[in-house]
Amino acid sequence: MRFSLLVLALLTSPAAADTQQHPMGNGGYCGTQDPEPGVVYDPARVRAAPTTLFLNRCPGGCTITKGRHDAPNNVSNNTGTGPGPFTFQEFPNYEGMRGAAADQEWNEIVACVRSIYSYYNVNVVDTRPASGPYHMSIVSGTNDSIQFQGQVMGQLLGLSALSCAGPLDNVVSFALADNHRSIFRGAPRYVKEMCNTIVHEAGHAFGLEHQFEFDDGKSACPDPMSYDIGICNPPKHFFRNKSAKCGGVSLMPCSCAMRQNSHSKLDAAFGSKTSEIANPTAAVTFSGSPPGTLGAVVAGTAGSERGVETLSLIMNGHVYVTQGGAPYVGELGQDLNAQYTVAVPPGLPDSIYDLQFRACDDLENCTDSAILTVTKGPAGGCTSTEACDTAQECLDGRCTFLPPTAEVGEECEVNEQCLSGVCRGSDTTKICTEQCNTEDDQCPGDLACQLPANETDPANGVCFFPQDEGGCCSTNDTPPWGAFVLALGLAGLIRRRRA
Ligand SMILES: [Zn+2]
Repeated sequence: MRFSLLVLALLTSPAAADTQQHPMGNGGYCGTQDPEPGVVYDPARVRAAPTTLFLNRCPGGCTITKGRHDAPNNVSNNTGTGPGPFTFQEFPNYEGMRGAAADQEWNEIVACVRSIYSYYNVNVVDTRPASGPYHMSIVSGTNDSIQFQGQVMGQLLGLSALSCAGPLDNVVSFALADNHRSIFRGAPRYVKEMCNTIVHEAGHAFGLEHQFEFDDGKSACPDPMSYDIGICNPPKHFFRNKSAKCGGVSLMPCSCAMRQNSHSKLDAAFGSKTSEIANPTAAVTFSGSPPGTLGAVVAGTAGSERGVETLSLIMNGHVYVTQGGAPYVGELGQDLNAQYTVAVPPGLPDSIYDLQFRACDDLENCTDSAILTVTKGPAGGCTSTEACDTAQECLDGRCTFLPPTAEVGEECEVNEQCLSGVCRGSDTTKICTEQCNTEDDQCPGDLACQLPANETDPANGVCFFPQDEGGCCSTNDTPPWGAFVLALGLAGLIRRRRA
């Protein structure tokens, strides 16, 4: 078991990020304690099943006693160091009023937490379930409420328990509402930060540790398990379907695995369901001038409450370009109406083009925009298939890719001909291929999984003919990509049909 302390202090200006440490806008840190010797969770209490997250606003006040986690009986062993009992006033609104006066902010917080967990079979309620097991989040209190006596920089905002084994039943976590009031100014900010802390602390109880940055080096700030609210602090933090490195205020090795993907971990633990969050929006608004012509770029907008992860340019039903979503910046996070400009690939044939943007979130929930039709070249578009590119035909003035038919191992000229979407080889001779793992060669027919030149990850192999095929072309001891390209210069090596 592990203590986790969410500690945030007043905002400071974020400095430029570097590869080792993202500046924390909160100026705080997280203290953790390694598992206590001899403390072993009863495996029966580690559940991977639909569960309930009970947000307890402590109506009329509540009391927690110290002992083995037992939410139905208000017992917790992840409080502060004091002996207890631990007493909490009822949840306050930002102005410090309790009871009915705090209903509106309470309801906003509950709705926020519920929407973020709506991707999973986690039932968020604010009345105590008739029976356990469930997770209980105490949404009230201060350091004194939990008798916290540790030394912390900044303000303690929450506390939870974490087991790498998975979700823990009947854990009590704490989101110290009265502490939030003292550092986050204004009711909207208070609601937002309370939601984030509750989601974060429950996330710990569900088996998640802190995330520092994604594998692409960007701050994990859009994820609730991040501490970074300086680079970005979007209105809602969603569990991201992205591999992340761990750490609170600095990069640390993950404790539970090499990397953490918070979404996939929750998905594996609870199962997923249709969320409350709408799919992205997307619109193409402009291409060339005069209107109706294809310019050098296609412009438009896209947005998503969850965030747009990728934006693709589709022309005549075919994806030509895919680029990343707009950046997450500051309190806005990612702009819900972000402007996108995508460069049109050069050398396209004269044709009518039906332009669309496809905006996808990190869970691959995608939306295709309405079509904006433009023309390159003479009005009326293409007049013959010969005027279009390889693997295209001219349909209604539009150069359009034919559906792919070639299987792995068959000859190709462009990716679009391959069912796998990948055509590789020399300038004169290519075959459809696919990614493979050299340690688990499952390439079809007489192809073998081989690593391209300059590639070291066994998972990034490519199905190709064995290097010594034909007996003449092994020019060195390594099987680099360049060697297969050389071998493929001999058309005789190409299989029209794989065995
Ligand atoms: Zn934490």
